Amino acid sequence: MILIRSIRLNRRPLSLSLSSMLDLQPRSLYYSSSSAAAAEAERTIREGPRNDWKREEIKNVYDSPLLDLLFHGAQVHRHAQNFREVQQCTLLSIKTGGCSEDCSYCPQSSRYDTGLKAQKLMNKDAVLEAAQKAKEAGSTRFCMGAAWRDTIGRKTNFNQILEYVKEIRGMGMEVCCTLGMIEQQQALELKKAGLTAYNHNLDTSREYYPNVITTRTYDERLETIKHVREAGINVCSGGIIGLGEAEEDRVGLLHTLATLPSHPESVPINALVAVKGTPLEDQKAVEIWEMIRMIATARITMPKAMVRLSAGRVKFSVPEQALCFLAGANSIFTGEKLLTTPNNDFDADQSMFKLLGLIPKPPSFSDEAEPEHCEEEAVSSSA
Ligand code: SF4
Repeated sequence: MILIRSIRLNRRPLSLSLSSMLDLQPRSLYYSSSSAAAAEAERTIREGPRNDWKREEIKNVYDSPLLDLLFHGAQVHRHAQNFREVQQCTLLSIKTGGCSEDCSYCPQSSRYDTGLKAQKLMNKDAVLEAAQKAKEAGSTRFCMGAAWRDTIGRKTNFNQILEYVKEIRGMGMEVCCTLGMIEQQQALELKKAGLTAYNHNLDTSREYYPNVITTRTYDERLETIKHVREAGINVCSGGIIGLGEAEEDRVGLLHTLATLPSHPESVPINALVAVKGTPLEDQKAVEIWEMIRMIATARITMPKAMVRLSAGRVKFSVPEQALCFLAGANSIFTGEKLLTTPNNDFDADQSMFKLLGLIPKPPSFSDEAEPEHCEEEAVSSSA
């Protein structure tokens, strides 16, 4: 009936016989998709974000035919986000190398011989100069990374970082830190200094995690994320693919993130950059299709999150990156380096934005939350 009406409205001569119209009906059904990606994307668009994902549901989305997953990731992306906007973040290593942890992908661990020289915390002038340069180059978020297990017993350095956060926030930029594990008190102090987001990746699934890191537990990671969330700081948490994990582990990682009490504000999806001297130096490079699958699944399951095409982007061509943006990525790292590994050229990124019709996302301070219950502790500690 719908077919007949549309033909009438278009005032085309009704030359189709009933049998040929009936012929068309099965064909139109043939074009519709019944994949889990289609069903869950439709549900996400209809009902909004949810935190009660079952692992099986996410697995079914992840396992959907790739182009179908890409299409429905794009559909959710256009519904939940301004699809032309891409956040540009600059990540600076403010304290490089000499880390006591054994993360098997990381050239900054003191346990591996990668030729990286350990350095002390960068001074204020150098950090602020880098932030200013990043701002002038179009970055709206400045992230500072320190190669530490945690910040306990580093009072002087921590207070210096609080100062950096205040100053950079005063420059009108969003500020993010990644300093290892933090206690609730430190999260509150960072919040008070004006921190926008704190990065603490889960890296992989709970099951695969002990194959990658043995010096801290998955639960300790989740504890830091809890402290960050409860302090009212946006959580930035994602993972790395290409560590030797199975696809089931990628699903497990996304399941943990998508079932946190609130979805992370940012979800970095990293492709391993295998560094000589680390235990993972011989890992096979991640293919673009694997990234697209991760990004689209993250977009469908966490529609409001900034999904960040992170480490490993340097290896992908512009058409490959375009597919990632189409699948739902809307954040990148800009700048010469990502902590210690190479990153995309600034001019090449600007040309890519122009070519693809992407625009930089302006900084946002409007959605910042208040601490859940610990305001007094922060005030008393800093007094
Ligand atoms: S990833 Fe972070 S915690 Fe792990 S070794 Fe590297 S710097 Fe240390």
